[in-house]
Amino acid sequence: MDETTQPELRSFIPVKPDSDFPIQNLPYGVFRRVDGRRAVGVAIGDQVLDLTEAESAGLLKTSYFGEPSLNAFMGAGREVWRSVRAQVSQLLREDVTTLRDDADMRDRVLVPQSEVTMELPAEIGDYTDFYSSREHATNVGTMFRGADNALMPNWLHLPVAYHGRASSVVPTGTAVHRPCGQTRPNDEEPPVFGPSRLVDFELEMGFFVGPGSTLGNPIPVENAADHIFGMVLVNDWSARDIQKWEYQPLGPFLAKNFATTISPWVVTMDALEPFRCAGPTQDPEPLPYLRSSGPQAFDIQLEVGLKTPKMQTAASIAHSNFKYMYWSVVQQLAHHTVTGCNVRPGDLMASGTISGPDKGSRGSLLELTWRGTEPLQFETGEERKFMQDGDELWLSGYCQGEGYRVGFGECRGEVLPAKTRG
Ligand code: CA
Repeated sequence: MDETTQPELRSFIPVKPDSDFPIQNLPYGVFRRVDGRRAVGVAIGDQVLDLTEAESAGLLKTSYFGEPSLNAFMGAGREVWRSVRAQVSQLLREDVTTLRDDADMRDRVLVPQSEVTMELPAEIGDYTDFYSSREHATNVGTMFRGADNALMPNWLHLPVAYHGRASSVVPTGTAVHRPCGQTRPNDEEPPVFGPSRLVDFELEMGFFVGPGSTLGNPIPVENAADHIFGMVLVNDWSARDIQKWEYQPLGPFLAKNFATTISPWVVTMDALEPFRCAGPTQDPEPLPYLRSSGPQAFDIQLEVGLKTPKMQTAASIAHSNFKYMYWSVVQQLAHHTVTGCNVRPGDLMASGTISGPDKGSRGSLLELTWRGTEPLQFETGEERKFMQDGDELWLSGYCQGEGYRVGFGECRGEVLPAKTRG
């Protein structure tokens, strides 16, 4: 077993039991200090270990953290990831004195998370969004085409996806302006232009590609795990009225290109390994290029909170789990590249909305309110069908270990009024 994930490991830095960032996690991110310096870091408790400083101070035998971006490290591959993870784990252990007993060095390489601003962890060259939750696809299909035609004929045979927009992927805390666009609220009337009235979130997770592939060379499903660095929470903001009018025949375009919010700490597959579990049974059996062996899902508990301007704290509106995903991350990557499409370090692949089997596990307002016909009711007396200006949306997620959590930190965004008018 990997020593860095042992449940009894402890850091000399205090970590609360419900912290997302115990020594078993060690997620990577890019942050900016108050003086403007940008660096790569690892979250531990409520602190950040500055890897850029630790590397230049000689605490780490690495050469990946000179630039404030994780692309080079992501591309370096599993052996390097494991070596660096082992070094960082060693440095932070409660029984290792190197950093623990060196106050000057601690001042140099540790900084409170409350004193940094998180940025995107990588330069994202390409972003693809899958549609891999059977429950979500069934819910949406039922609403738009009726229960008998809920799943399209291809859905159980391949992981459906579209190529998304990398330029508008933003880190947590970035405000999102309500998009303007063309909609057709009345089927008997011509389309109109103006602010979207049906802004929604989508509860998703995404993985970052590690070592890339070359054009013309598919990544076989049995090798796909070697090309997956780690995961983040993803909110794929969606304008349902724009989507409804534009989506046929080529799929979402402007309905989803205005913003995609991600959590800034990338939790590595090594940290997630103890939480691997079986996913749903796949029937019919996938074609050979999509067949993988062993459990390919991960038990990651997910929650969605919505906070209106009247609320003191966010109200919980949904609980789901990443293990509900029908198509696994290795199947997604194998399918994505089977044509010879190349991928590059830092590419982001999102799961699609993660809905579960019951009503409280639906991962979008579209489903939670069943297209606005069953508004959410809150203790403030307010109700919501879709996002209103000033509303904040929170995603959170963690794996529960014995006495510790491997969590993902914050994925938050506020909806601001549209910037232009129709
Ligand atoms: Ca989506």
